[in-house]
Amino acid sequence: MDAFIFDLDNTLYPASTPLFPLIDARINTYMHQRAGIPKERVDHLRRQYWQEYGLTMVGLARHHGVDPEDYLEYVHDVDVAAILRPCPELAEALANLPGAKVILTNGSMGHARRVLEVLGLQEVFTEIFDVRLAAYRPKPYPEPYREMLRRLGVPGSRCVMVEDMALNLKTAKEFGMATVLIGPGNGETYVDMRIDDVTLFPEAYGRFAREKGSLTP
Ligand SMILES: [Mg+2]
Repeated sequence: MDAFIFDLDNTLYPASTPLFPLIDARINTYMHQRAGIPKERVDHLRRQYWQEYGLTMVGLARHHGVDPEDYLEYVHDVDVAAILRPCPELAEALANLPGAKVILTNGSMGHARRVLEVLGLQEVFTEIFDVRLAAYRPKPYPEPYREMLRRLGVPGSRCVMVEDMALNLKTAKEFGMATVLIGPGNGETYVDMRIDDVTLFPEAYGRFAREKGSLTP
């Protein structure tokens, strides 16, 4: 494999970690306090924008004059170091994977850097692609995948993507990538391997590669 592509949140740390709920709560606060949306409209608009644009932020920028950078900084301003712990075993195992390791996240660069640093993974990943990659077009839309592959200079068929959201792997599969789902699955046909926790990935990948030669059939 040429490249191992990892999602960040709820992938590099367990989904049970109480980090994402903090970001989630700050999105609501931002919509009310900074964007001036009445409290009772927040939930509805959040859902609507998310369905329409894939990101709440895009709807806020289009309809409420929100500056995407201001939004990203605000919602990701959580005390990552108080919640996550370093994981040296994971760092070592990931470092040994035979290929480049990169991050593809719908979050911000600053948040990704903070999370990687606290987990002790900052040396493992050679590149971080954040939500700015394709002009705020997020996964699972194809644009960020296409732009990432263009910048990496590799075809999708030489990549493995590791993610906690199955739908994001559907697009990865359409680009020819091998796909690894972290957490519970629902029999998705585009998922090549499913594991409970990212710490199990290097060993599981090694075994799979030995037995089948590759993750892809
Ligand atoms: Mg995730």
